[in-house]
Order: sequence, then C-alpha cells, then structure tokens
Amino acid sequence: MRKIVIVTGGSRGIGAATAKLAAKAGYRVCIAYRHRETAAAEVIAAIDRDGGEAMAVPADVGREADVVRLFEAVDRRFGEATALVNNAGILERQMRVEEMDADRLTRVFNANVVGSFLCAREAVRRMSTRHGGHGGAIVNVSSVAARLGSPNEYIDYAASKAAIDTLTVGLAKEVAAEGVRVNAVRPGSIYTEIHASGGEPGRVDRVKARIPMQRGGEAEEIARAIVWLLSDEASYMTGSLVDVAGGL
Ligand code: NAP
Repeated sequence: MRKIVIVTGGSRGIGAATAKLAAKAGYRVCIAYRHRETAAAEVIAAIDRDGGEAMAVPADVGREADVVRLFEAVDRRFGEATALVNNAGILERQMRVEEMDADRLTRVFNANVVGSFLCAREAVRRMSTRHGGHGGAIVNVSSVAARLGSPNEYIDYAASKAAIDTLTVGLAKEVAAEGVRVNAVRPGSIYTEIHASGGEPGRVDRVKARIPMQRGGEAEEIARAIVWLLSDEASYMTGSLVDVAGGL
C-alpha cells in the first residue's frame, strides 16, 4: 500500500522538516499551510529535487470547510491519506492571563485544538477499519508547555497543548482496535519562527541555559521522532506522549 501523509503547517519549521523527511521515507506528501505560499512552494520544490512526490494546499485548519477540502484534494491526487501529522499551531504575544481577551483565546484554541480535532476526524474517516479503511497513524504535535504551563508567556498556548495530549490519549483508545495509532510528540524549545509570534524571535537562546542539554533543538530532531512514530517501527505504540526536549 502506498504511504500518503498530510502534514499541516508544512510550509515552515517543524512541519517543513517533517514533510521532507517523510518524502525521503517514501511517503507521498501533502502539506497544508495558511498564508505563506512561497515557503510552501519551496518545500515542494525541495521534495521534487530529491525525487519525491508532494503537493501543497492552502487550508486554515481552524476552518471546517478548508479541512474537508484539504483531505478531498489529497483523495483525488494521491488517494486516501494513511498518515496525518497534526502540526499546524500558533502562539501569540507573550503576556499574563489577566491581559488576555476572548478573541485571542478563541484564535489560539481554534487553530491548535479545533484544527487538530477536525483533521483527526477526517483522517479517522479514511483510515479506520470501521469506515472501510486499511488503518493508519496520526502524530499530534503537542509541546512540553502542556506540562510546564508557560507562565508569563502564553498559558493559553500551553493549555491548548494539554488539550492535544488528551486528544491523543482518548483518540488512541477510541480507534486502537480499528487499525489507527495515535501518538504525540512534545517538542521543547526549537529554533523556528514561532517564537517571533510571541514577540521574542531569540527566545530559544534566552532559555537554553535552563535546558539540561544546554541547547535548543533543531526542527529535524523533532521530524525524526514524528516520522518514526508514523512508521511500522512504532507498531505497538499508541496513546504515547513522546518528549523531545533536551531533558526539559
Ligand atoms: P512555525 O515555524 O511558526 O510554523 C507554523 C506552521 O503552521 C506554518 O507552516 C504555518 O503556515 C502553519 N499554520 C499556522 N496556523 C495555521 C492554520 N490555522 N492552518 C494551517 N496552517 C497553519 O511553527 P513551528 O515552531 O514549526 O511549530 C510547529 C508545531 O510545533 C506547532 O504546533 C507548535 O506549537 C509546536 N511546537 C513548537 C515548538 C518550538 O519551539 N518551535 C515547541 C513545542 C511545540 P504559514 O507558513 O502559511 O504561516
């Protein structure tokens, strides 16, 4: 069976590294992105150059119609997805809880939580033997923030990642007997552009002294864990939350 993976937020950072590595591992790859068409095109071109097959779909995971359209585009071009990486995620400017308004909370929970639920739903509808599928694997990209709480920075983001952990544990049990494995990777502080959204592009270098390994991580170090969890090497793993965080 051909392996087909959808990587949300695949235009940059951890998602882009995961898309490229999955292509090398023999997956047909679809990346979803929100705005950055040029960045998405560069990922597709890199995969093409390496002899892989990839497509990009602009889709906001927080919008149900976009998610349905994303999965249908993959059905048509590659066939039904056999793997999903729920990677798209956002955080907003660092602040304390007493400064947060409802619009911000809605944006963060919509992109990070609603988006992951909707993509998982579409994946299960295709992969589960209950729906005539042949099984598959889902990896949710959570964060060590789920257990650290991110005080003074973004407790809303941390709480949204705690919801992702619960989605992982619950969905893993719900579909375990239907051929679908669901796991999460919880990265620590990784060099990507997400920290600029918090207002501190150099955040990883500020916090790295607190990391037991004394350094930030690279997107490829997260991608390797994600692609391994998708693979048959992890055939007896489901409902696991795998920290990739330099000991944090
Ligand atoms: P990033 O560099 O900011 O990239 C984010 C990606 O997500 C981009 O491809 C972006 O698309 C896409 N995206 C954002 N909102 C979206 C939406 N609503 N619909 C579809 N795509 C959307 O982020 P990153 O650091 O690689 O983070 C990836 C994941 O890892 C996130 O879930 C994040 O929470 C998690 N994580 C990161 C770290 C870290 O230190 N970097 C640590 C722990 C967990 P555009 O390019 O079009 O904007």
